[in-house]
Amino acid sequence: MKEIVPSPPPIVRNDAVEIQSLFQRHVVPSYGRLDLVLSHGSGSQLWDVTGKRYLDFGGGVAVCALGHSPAAITETMIEQSTKLIHCSNYYYHAPQGRLAAALTGLIGPGKCFFCNSGAEANEGLFKLARKFGHDEGRFEIITALNSFHGRTLGAVAATGQDKIKKGFEPAMPGFRHVPFNDLAAARAAITPATAAILIEGIQGESGVTPATAEYLLGLRALCDEKKLLLLMDSVQCGHFRTGRFQSFQRILAGVPGGENFLPDGISMAKSLGGGFPMGAFWVRAPYADLLSAGTHGSTFGGTPLGCAIALKVLSVIHEEKLDRNAYEVGEFLKQGLRDLIARFPLYLREVRGLGLMIGLELRDDHPAWSGAGKSAALRLTELLQAAGMLVIPTGTRIIRFLPALNLRRDEAEEGLRILENVLAALPA
Ligand SMILES: *Cc1c(COP(=O)(O)O)cnc(C)c1O
Repeated sequence: MKEIVPSPPPIVRNDAVEIQSLFQRHVVPSYGRLDLVLSHGSGSQLWDVTGKRYLDFGGGVAVCALGHSPAAITETMIEQSTKLIHCSNYYYHAPQGRLAAALTGLIGPGKCFFCNSGAEANEGLFKLARKFGHDEGRFEIITALNSFHGRTLGAVAATGQDKIKKGFEPAMPGFRHVPFNDLAAARAAITPATAAILIEGIQGESGVTPATAEYLLGLRALCDEKKLLLLMDSVQCGHFRTGRFQSFQRILAGVPGGENFLPDGISMAKSLGGGFPMGAFWVRAPYADLLSAGTHGSTFGGTPLGCAIALKVLSVIHEEKLDRNAYEVGEFLKQGLRDLIARFPLYLREVRGLGLMIGLELRDDHPAWSGAGKSAALRLTELLQAAGMLVIPTGTRIIRFLPALNLRRDEAEEGLRILENVLAALPA
């Protein structure tokens, strides 16, 4: 008979130090990580390895659409993985077909391709643009300054930020950058080699800057006139984050001519799998068959497991009306931030964004932020973290709120209270 021994007492040790040391020794140091070792999460709450609780307003950078550890995703993962996890794109299967139909239904007539990340989705759009312009010798894509499109060589070349490109020259040819929200600049940049224009509906990484309605409608008319593809990177601003499936649907709501607006291609990722790595792009109907058999592919793209999860994320968003929630809680949060700007004008400058994609710009010239050579954005991020709230810094003076689409109003209130307390404790 097995001997029954009492379970040993819990070993008290510093997990955080041990885990961080593993990273220092074995993980490529390409990220500037914050001093936080996470253990688990539930909804919009996270716990670190010491048991400290945090309110998560970063949402894994706009990924965790349903929050952390949502039961719906766990159940779908278990159920689908007992049937079929992966089968390769040599074959057909129901989840990929159904997901493509669902996404197309939310956007407009066209077709979808599935991949694994945002950069990869954008790469697909670059290939679409090259195929589109190929027979006329057109290959150039115009993108915006301060854009962000990912970290592959093509996406780095597309990204309009020098700090992303630095050290990896020569850049892949075929991209030109123009100022965002400047239609005349886009028109002036068109050459006989131009095939497409690519923008984000809301620029994310450079500090949450929405496209204007006039810019979107103007780019559509310009692309029609010059026979260019209008491509949109919806990796961060899409998937109901703004209160509508696509940010352009929110930006153009109620704008004359806006109801008929459609780009020719849309890249998606981040929230698409609710934390399961997934990317996709949609191509408008006239161009949906340009990438014919053998021209593009991905081993892991559109697996039964990934697609079943993405379908579940969509159905939970629909059933729980999380589009409405993102709109309403987003408005509430923005109003709360405006009130804080009015109370703390020395530290805070401006709030921007739509729905649950919000940027708060700091007055980085205020001495309260200076210290240890860190940017104002990083300082505030660290102070909030110490106070139990996680946000995403971007640039030197902007923090972003990209929480789960099911963030509750009381959680938004708690976040505002934490921010208020941190600001009130700053040196005058
Ligand atoms: C995050 C992001 C990407 C890159 O996505 P990855 O999944 O990291 O490759 C591309 N475009 C935008 C707008 C993003 O926010």
